Amino acid sequence: MTRKARGERTIRLERSPKLDGIGIFSVRAGTTRAYYVLHEIPCAIGGRGFAVHRLGLGSLYHVRIGPPEDCSCECLGFLAHGRCRHILGLLALARRDKI
Ligand SMILES: [Zn+2]
Repeated sequence: MTRKARGERTIRLERSPKLDGIGIFSVRAGTTRAYYVLHEIPCAIGGRGFAVHRLGLGSLYHVRIGPPEDCSCECLGFLAHGRCRHILGLLALARRDKI
């Protein structure tokens, strides 16, 4: 059994966006799991752009992923810390060629 770091998050693709452009992923943190809808949108300023919407809450974030200088998000976490779960999650899925 592997030791889990405190605060570790795992992301799982629930529905591939490769079929029709709409994907669903979930992020587990501890015992809670949140579900997000994602949709890739055109991005003319570098990186890949995504609209990310957390199911049940109504917050819509526009997220860009790519090289570090091309990563951005509209959420408070990114504004405060320069990184957030949305960027980290989408980067992880893109690295695995899931999106
Ligand atoms: Zn974010």
